[in-house]
Amino acid sequence: MSLSLPTTSPSISWEDPLDLMDEIDRLKKERDAVILAHFYVDGEIQDIADHTGDSLKLARDAVRASASTIVFAGVHFMGESAKILSPQKTILIPDLQAGCSLADSCPAPSLAAYQAQLRSQGHDFQTVAYINTTAATKSLCDWIVTSGNAREIIDRVPPDKEILFVPDQHLGRYLSEVTGRKMILWPGACQVHEIFSVQDLLRAKKNNPHSLVIAHPECPHAILEHADFIGGTEKMRQYVASLAEPKLFLVATEATMIHPLQKLAPQHTYIPVPGIMASDGKTCACNRCPHMARNTLQKVRDCLRDGRPEITWQPYFEKAREVLERSLLK
Ligand code: SF4
Repeated sequence: MSLSLPTTSPSISWEDPLDLMDEIDRLKKERDAVILAHFYVDGEIQDIADHTGDSLKLARDAVRASASTIVFAGVHFMGESAKILSPQKTILIPDLQAGCSLADSCPAPSLAAYQAQLRSQGHDFQTVAYINTTAATKSLCDWIVTSGNAREIIDRVPPDKEILFVPDQHLGRYLSEVTGRKMILWPGACQVHEIFSVQDLLRAKKNNPHSLVIAHPECPHAILEHADFIGGTEKMRQYVASLAEPKLFLVATEATMIHPLQKLAPQHTYIPVPGIMASDGKTCACNRCPHMARNTLQKVRDCLRDGRPEITWQPYFEKAREVLERSLLK
């Protein structure tokens, strides 16, 4: 069933989600496809996905999948990583414009220039990149980390080397603290995790004295210092699932993350920590990643039906593959 809604925009049409889900199911079989969905995409997409997870788990799921086609509901760099690790598979992404502010903050030419400058100053370093980077940037790095494996990878950097950590300064600062390794930090940040309001977090804590704050390490230090638990999305899930007694959690990460937390551990209550809008200084519940929000059920259906947009192999993927395989698969 497809209905046109009365709207000022004639291009917007509504389709019954149940019909879309049936169509997606049929197209998946026809195309020998599986759907991978990041925890930050809409709950309805997570619910129809074959695999959900963080970047690390999904990269591994893409490699293990026996299907010839993967629909990656996430953002562009995730589709690139899936293609790099599974070059023989067709990788479709629902929206080619779904980017990432963090990945955009560290373009490959700028990183190459900075690395050359550091070398000319006598620095002997290895470059560790958060997975939220473009493939071109990854190809210039020695290691790739996710929030799930970062400590383990940093332990593999020879102790006599300095570490240049890109692109997330907040995650880098946190990792430097927990590993004791000094790092040169690239000044990038995620537009979603950077906007949390410390004042509103403290107010929420005061109003809910028994609440626990769980925060993603992409959050600034001022938020992390009030957190009871710091971890990436998979670790957050494990943490809430480990507590049987009902709790109230104040969640400092992308707001859609509440969907998988609620599904896994429904005994708890979850409240998103409010964000602060830089333009007017007001707080809001706007902690949705606008790039992840580009993924919709319609676009999942469209890319399965049309076989595009597709992530195609690029020459620099080969070098990025060496780095990704060494970091994520070994
Ligand atoms: S939440 Fe931040 S880091 Fe994650 S995809 Fe969106 S902009 Fe990038």
